[in-house]
Amino acid sequence: MTSLFPLLTARLAQLPLWQKTLAGVLLLSLLFLLLRPVLLPADPDAGKLRLTVLDVGQGDCLLLQTPQGRTVLIDGGGANDEKTAGQSDVGERVVLPFLRSQGISRLDVLVITHPHGDHVGGLAAVLRQEPVGVVLDGTCLPYPSPAYAQVRSLIQSRHIPYVQAVRGMTLQLDPSIRADILNPPAQGHVYGTTLDNNIVNNYSAVLRVGYGRTHFLLDGDAQSEAEQSMLAAIPDLSADVLKVGHHGAGNASTDAWLARVRPHYAAVSCGLHNHFGHPHPATLARLAAHGVQVFRTDHNGAILFVSDGQTVTARPFIP
Ligand SMILES: [Zn+2]
Repeated sequence: MTSLFPLLTARLAQLPLWQKTLAGVLLLSLLFLLLRPVLLPADPDAGKLRLTVLDVGQGDCLLLQTPQGRTVLIDGGGANDEKTAGQSDVGERVVLPFLRSQGISRLDVLVITHPHGDHVGGLAAVLRQEPVGVVLDGTCLPYPSPAYAQVRSLIQSRHIPYVQAVRGMTLQLDPSIRADILNPPAQGHVYGTTLDNNIVNNYSAVLRVGYGRTHFLLDGDAQSEAEQSMLAAIPDLSADVLKVGHHGAGNASTDAWLARVRPHYAAVSCGLHNHFGHPHPATLARLAAHGVQVFRTDHNGAILFVSDGQTVTARPFIP
């Protein structure tokens, strides 16, 4: 039997130069296509939903990346002290470098859960340097802090559409990814009308993000009163991952809440040796009693949760 290879080379040798070049190019293209999976290994997270709980010390900052590349930043870390919150550089130091490392040059949605400095302090830097599609803000009482005022004025001067987050709203982030806003409630100021820290925390925007059979529940600084309101109003609160409310404080993540959410994983965002004592030992005991595997940014650094629509895997930076 005649071998194919000598036959091919003999035929090629008879061809004019331009046809040889063309044949070479076609052959190389075919080789590249065949070897492509080896030369350029596919992104193992392609088609998956990613939630990163950044390590911003004592504060909150979460990033959602959808299978189609949509980006949602939820809070931006910052200092708790309202006098220094405006000068916090956690946005420059942590948030922006992380966005760059992910190749992100635009945020489709920015969620402000509530106006406290440890959630908005780093956002001024982000707003100055990243285009933002829309801002969704849980803040529903006038909040006169320098850090929050600066964020609101940047949103206005950059003409970014601004929407008040309220229970019942839904964001279709991708055809397959849906985020429901569970808090604050639509019916007025049910948690109070003063700027008491507990009241401001309870108005936090709470998001439940669904992909296939999996869910992420992102509580902001919601405390027990907000948990009660959501328990009464929303039938399905189940989630694979719970970003616990208020940095693991004792007045959040109640037994009733954990019994309904039934999370497999919990993420606590808090600073090492923070002077609030977050997370509270009683909260950690409740999470343990409900069989929840807990990751915390002060021990694990940034925590990445990846969903393929069926199951969620947890990848803490420091296991
Ligand atoms: Zn907070």
